[in-house]
Amino acid sequence: MDKDKYGQYEIIDAHSHIFPEKIAEIATVSIGNFYEMPMSGCGLSAKLVESGEKIGVSMYLVCSTATTPHQTAAINRFIANECSLHPEFYGFGTTHPDSEDLAADIDMIEELGLHGVKLHPDFQKFNADSPDAFRIYEQIEGRLPLLIHCGDNRYDYSAPKRILNIHKNFPKLQLMAAHLGGYQRWDDAVDILAGLDNVRFDVSSSMAFMSPEKAAGIVRRYGAENCFFGSDFPMWTHEEELERFFALGLTEEENRLVLADSFKAFLGL
Ligand SMILES: [Zn+2]
Repeated sequence: MDKDKYGQYEIIDAHSHIFPEKIAEIATVSIGNFYEMPMSGCGLSAKLVESGEKIGVSMYLVCSTATTPHQTAAINRFIANECSLHPEFYGFGTTHPDSEDLAADIDMIEELGLHGVKLHPDFQKFNADSPDAFRIYEQIEGRLPLLIHCGDNRYDYSAPKRILNIHKNFPKLQLMAAHLGGYQRWDDAVDILAGLDNVRFDVSSSMAFMSPEKAAGIVRRYGAENCFFGSDFPMWTHEEELERFFALGLTEEENRLVLADSFKAFLGL
């Protein structure tokens, strides 16, 4: 890609995944299978940085989710440790609605110096607006932001209407709705989720599935000040997602917002 095109911008990756070395390959393959897509790399920190450096990423929101409650502590320690090795990492921890001690999980996330919580209802198999999930939001509203996977027309766990329901019940929760608010459910998502306070969106794993005109229209309905750039690494390389992003033909100001400024404003960086 032409460096003149992106060299002028600060770029933050608001959605990326890393895995411990022992499981990185297996985890990457199983995500690829889940989405029936080839993955761009293996989810190791070194590979993430190698991919991001090609476009000059200055900060990465890194996360991983626990498919069972007993994995939570180990994952959170892993993310925190990677953050201590990579100052450019901004770590989010995770928990699970079936956790025996949610309050302890959230305390641990804070004690480890992590900055938010990542949930993936489809992997973790819970309805995003179920009473069990609400116990998590009760703990973190006004305390830690939530990055939540959204959408997928094969499942209903994280459908846009459920994301709206979270917001209605927890209006002060800082909600980051991944994949433009609803992977493969973009029309619904933008109708249901545009214009809500405290709700933001990342553009990861979305632009590859629609025309640039459509993606630009969605970003503008949400407002560029509410949208973040993200790679969903190892799903895509940074170069691929940035190329798709520039194809949207947004204004310089909108580019600046989505690539870094909206994220910094939302998280007070
Ligand atoms: Zn994710």
